[in-house]
Amino acid sequence: MTHVITLNAGSSSLKFGLFKLGVNDPALVCSGLVDRIGMPDAQVEAETADGNHVTDDAPGPIADQAEALERALNMLERHFPEMVVSAVGHRIVHGGAEIDTPQPLTPQMLKALEKFSPFAPLHQPHNISGARAAMERFPDAAQIACFDTAFHRSHPWVNDVFALPREFYDKGVRRYGFHGVSYDYISGHLAETAPLLHAGRVVVAHLGNGASMCAMVNGRSVGSTMGFSALDGLPMGTRCGQLDPGVVLYLMDQEGMSADEIADLLYNKSGLLGLSGMGNDMRVLEQADTRESRQAINYFTFRIRRELGALTAVLGGLDAVVFTGGIGENSRLIRDRVCGDMGWFGIELDPDANADNSRIISTDLSRVCVMVIPTNEELVIARAAADLLHNRGSAAGQPIHNLRA
Ligand code: ADP
Repeated sequence: MTHVITLNAGSSSLKFGLFKLGVNDPALVCSGLVDRIGMPDAQVEAETADGNHVTDDAPGPIADQAEALERALNMLERHFPEMVVSAVGHRIVHGGAEIDTPQPLTPQMLKALEKFSPFAPLHQPHNISGARAAMERFPDAAQIACFDTAFHRSHPWVNDVFALPREFYDKGVRRYGFHGVSYDYISGHLAETAPLLHAGRVVVAHLGNGASMCAMVNGRSVGSTMGFSALDGLPMGTRCGQLDPGVVLYLMDQEGMSADEIADLLYNKSGLLGLSGMGNDMRVLEQADTRESRQAINYFTFRIRRELGALTAVLGGLDAVVFTGGIGENSRLIRDRVCGDMGWFGIELDPDANADNSRIISTDLSRVCVMVIPTNEELVIARAAADLLHNRGSAAGQPIHNLRA
């Protein structure tokens, strides 16, 4: 029995998963997080599929992604000595304008992916260094990447373009869209469990620390709220969401801020944190009940409703709304604020089902079905790795989400 490791490397964190391969879907064995990489209080936390805590027996600072991987793997090897890693699957944020499927990773491919680093400077270099570290550690294992941009490559041109002179589009200044691995999972899940809805018009709201929405027809993305970078669209934990570009010019010209300072402001100090002055954790804001925390929540839900209306117009109607991500899966308040008083729009929320985080939280009479589906990005990556190993799908260049449909 062999295993797949999934890796999702961020600027200061590394999420990892261990899956067992068999005849069916890859089965989760353990998942974990290396947090606060580069800081003195770095830590590794993990849990087995049946909910048991896995301890890190060798705590201490962690300098970079290579060391984070080392620590996570040492921990996995100690707890799962039978582990035989035949593939490593990576989440990589940017695959550019062409890549629309998971891709086998080689050193040459990683080199080629470096050219997208300027488009996602806070994520892409970490994803690439995580992948290089995994290649060194597992030179004989198959390596595969799933891209956050890939799911959105089905966008029509009008949804990809900015109204800038055309040369910028040709240089890659486009709306790429992100969170594609999560949307891929939701699309595949709908195909298996609700094929009629999957074939229809669906808006998925991925609401976590990062947040975006995606309009799908027949399980494929036709529009999304994130664009060139992971800053656009909805306000997020610490990111601003949609912003008039004139604000950036003002910050440069009048406030004398450098590009780095503006990036820090827009990525790390804005969103729920900036508006509440309190934090980026929705649970904390919901409980705080201060004027600022209420206003931050109001802005968050106002923008989600606004985008829901816009994406519904793009779709020409709406059959289902799916909530996912940490907030979407757990916050009754946010779902209520987004879907409340929307009878005129075809949405009738069932308050009890919503309070229970049920799978379907709309009433039987609601024209639009409202669902809560926990996302599973790691499973999408593990499936892609399994498909690569079995020389199916990805190796043949077929979209994984279509294979699963
Ligand atoms: P990431 O984008 O980092 O993967 P997650 O999808 O884990 O983020 O979502 C994190 C967000 O989910 C945080 O704002 C957290 O407060 C929120 N969240 C988690 N559980 C709840 C809950 N029960 N109620 C409200 N918000 C929640």
